[in-house]
Amino acid sequence: MPIYEYICLDCGREFEKLIRKSSDNSEIECPECHSSSLEEKVSSFASVSPNGGSGAPNCAPSGG
Ligand SMILES: [Zn+2]
Repeated sequence: MPIYEYICLDCGREFEKLIRKSSDNSEIECPECHSSSLEEKVSSFASVSPNGGSGAPNCAPSGG
């Protein structure tokens, strides 16, 4: 499942959202200030560093 990254344009909070359907990202809001002004980032599964390093998956524990 593709995970999209969003950045709140209101408070600048970055969060990831797991989108199942392509056209179902209208109900996405900032978990911080619940703002609808979000910026979708480019999701990349195979992230390859141009510098040539071991890309460590930055997995943050999703907690409430
Ligand atoms: Zn926000």
